[in-house]
Amino acid sequence: MLSPAQAGRLLPKRPRPAPDLAAPILLSPPHLTGREKAAVEASLASGWLAPAGPIPRAFEAALAKETGFAHVLGVASGTAALTLAFRVLEIGPGDEVWVPGFTFIASIAPAVQLGARPRFLDVCPASWTLDPALLAMELRQAARQGRLPKAVVAVDIYGQCAALHEIAPLCAGYGVAVISDSAEGLGATQAGLSAGKGALLAAFSFNGNKIITAGGGGALASDDALLIARARALADQAKTPAPHYQHETTGYSFGLSSLLAAVGLAQLPKLADRVARRRAIFARYQEGLEDLPGISFMPEAAWGRASRWLSAMLIDPEGFGMDADGVRRVLAAEGIESRPVWKPLHMQPVFCDAPRIGGSVAEALFARGLCLPSGSGLGQDAQHRVIRAIRAAARG
Ligand SMILES: *Cc1c(COP(=O)(O)O)cnc(C)c1O
Repeated sequence: MLSPAQAGRLLPKRPRPAPDLAAPILLSPPHLTGREKAAVEASLASGWLAPAGPIPRAFEAALAKETGFAHVLGVASGTAALTLAFRVLEIGPGDEVWVPGFTFIASIAPAVQLGARPRFLDVCPASWTLDPALLAMELRQAARQGRLPKAVVAVDIYGQCAALHEIAPLCAGYGVAVISDSAEGLGATQAGLSAGKGALLAAFSFNGNKIITAGGGGALASDDALLIARARALADQAKTPAPHYQHETTGYSFGLSSLLAAVGLAQLPKLADRVARRRAIFARYQEGLEDLPGISFMPEAAWGRASRWLSAMLIDPEGFGMDADGVRRVLAAEGIESRPVWKPLHMQPVFCDAPRIGGSVAEALFARGLCLPSGSGLGQDAQHRVIRAIRAAARG
């Protein structure tokens, strides 16, 4: 056994505080408001620590107000929220779930774990989100062949909402449920509505790198009270009310801790400010880089206002003189973290046998895309370091 002092020495050394010109610049670190510590202390003092009591409920109410959803369930992660979405829709073996290939694996992994088969659809170049025209064609054909999916997952990407105003009515016409993976969408709008609104169920994430963090956590939202009530029961081991715990099915331990909910409650009022800052960061990258040959930026879709959760750009190696991975390595050598855009799921070894519809747009994005440091706490000096490093790479 390690003594606490020995264990303490195993922990990484704290990075030196700013200002340090050579300090590493991270992709999207948490941006504290200054109110988190008091919120956690108040939570501790109240005796409410577990995923129960007034603090998670207050966080759910605040998120309902923010997103316009009637019912919200706070959970341990965005992935937990998606798991519950698939469970309450009773997705399982024999079902197909459709999802854009250009996303993080958590958009579909829980459905696969429940036994469903994924089908990957391409995204459109104008938004990098699920292509509604392709979806319409595929739904028409699947209906004719009697192989409609049980659900379609629309995904918000890098703070840009999917075209739910088209996707939701389209799927409703075939009786297909729409789940919105809005883990990256909080704070963005589509057709004047909050991210996810219009889907039957929407999942949000409060992971450390998201626009609002609780240090970990997620939420499932819906306008359907029954679905959220079912999800709430599943998130707490599917107990039916009886002193001895009665179970008609098996559930999960997915509750949102009061301590994390307290952090989320402190963060949430800053959402509009965080969106404004991330949009300003995106605009500064655009201004500082778009004259370079071979550089272009993620377009903003006509139907919404993006949060620009991550600033993403495309690098054409012919024009620029270096490919996206070369730029990523140049930045890394300067202590600047950048990341390739999502590797299409149909290219992932785990899904090599899954059917896919198109995919060349997602593949082209992956070949050229790079996400730049986008944290809402990123200072202008640090951002200029990033811009200078990319400009130097262009000359080199
Ligand atoms: C972050 C993210 C998730 C998962 O959220 P966690 O809270 O990390 O479980 C799901 N989907 C997308 C698109 C994400 O970016």
